[in-house]
Amino acid sequence: MKILVFIDNRKNILKKADLELAYYGHSVAKKHGGDVVAMVVGSGVNAGDLGKFGAKEVINVPYNGSYDVAVFSNMISQIADQTGAELIVLPHNSSGKPLIGWLASKMNISSVTGVINIPEYIDDKPVFKKGVFSSKAFAYVKTLTDIAVVSLMPNSFSPEEVGNPVDVKTIEIDGGLPKVKVVGVEKVEGKVPLPEADIIVSGGRGMKGPENWGILEELAEVLGAATACSRPVSDVNWRPHTEHVGQTGIVVRPNLYIALGISGAIQHLAGVNNSKTIVVINKDPEAPFFKAADYGIVADLFEVVPELTKALKEYKSEK
Ligand SMILES: Cc1cc2nc3c(=O)[nH]c(=O)nc-3n(C[C@H](O)[C@H](O)[C@H](O)COP(=O)(O)OP(=O)(O)OC[C@H]3O[C@@H](n4cnc5c(N)ncnc54)[C@H](O)[C@@H]3O)c2cc1C
Repeated sequence: MKILVFIDNRKNILKKADLELAYYGHSVAKKHGGDVVAMVVGSGVNAGDLGKFGAKEVINVPYNGSYDVAVFSNMISQIADQTGAELIVLPHNSSGKPLIGWLASKMNISSVTGVINIPEYIDDKPVFKKGVFSSKAFAYVKTLTDIAVVSLMPNSFSPEEVGNPVDVKTIEIDGGLPKVKVVGVEKVEGKVPLPEADIIVSGGRGMKGPENWGILEELAEVLGAATACSRPVSDVNWRPHTEHVGQTGIVVRPNLYIALGISGAIQHLAGVNNSKTIVVINKDPEAPFFKAADYGIVADLFEVVPELTKALKEYKSEK
């Protein structure tokens, strides 16, 4: 089976999510047989490194235009035809989410969004697992067409080095005329995007005010973590809305989620309950977040957090 993973490389950097895609393809191939072809749209800088994470072949399709689902799906469908791909894997992010429906419709193939597993085969067809109802339940979806496209949830698989860099083959493809043009982008610079973060330190109304965020940021810095918050915190502008996690915010799946002064309302948990380890610091022993926590500290965060940061700094300096 040929597995085609799609990577948007227009910014000249390979992100962790891109390595995850190659490694996911490798893991599927390892279990069910086959090879991974990585299709890298954009400059192709460093694209050969995808070989280290499981790609057997890397194809660069040069493109320096705007993001456009029509152009991208034309390119992907042509590479899928050329390589004989049976499974196409997109990232479940702002690039892959708008693309998957368009591509599935263009190729008349099955699609599953936000997959989190290596599929099992039932009657020769793959069955993918995905979170539903704000990740409070799982659905198992069998694709029925010979070719399928899925989008992979970030942080579902930790990429591991399994091979060596490979040569990059360049294939020019005319994806047609774009149907939209991006005329401006405003983004937060220099931060790990929350959906890709390994560790997140998050604050709620228990932080009392924006002037206290220094202790949260200091803890985040020592852990190399991204920062997040509950919705009321961003609603009152203590923190930007780009940090708001939950049902109406960003859904995250870090390896470690540390919640400071967050009650654990169901709408907040909907965005974080797939984190691998959850640590809750709250002074109310009845706070609902403790039911979802792997570790909990019942205490005043203003006493515990500086101590925790100090201990972590000491631990790091001893190593
Ligand atoms: C339709 C809808 C969608 C929503 N979507 C979201 C969403 O996406 N994300 C989201 O977060 N919320 C969402 N909400 C809001 C949600 O219901 C809660 O109101 C919100 O999550 C509560 O935020 P909080 O935990 O920061 O504040 P609070 O509920 O006020 O909790 C503060 C916590 O801090 C603790 N605390 C106070 N002082 C200290 C201290 N010194 N030390 C330690 N702990 C302390 C308290 O014990 C308390 O548990 C939504 C609500 C609705 C109706």
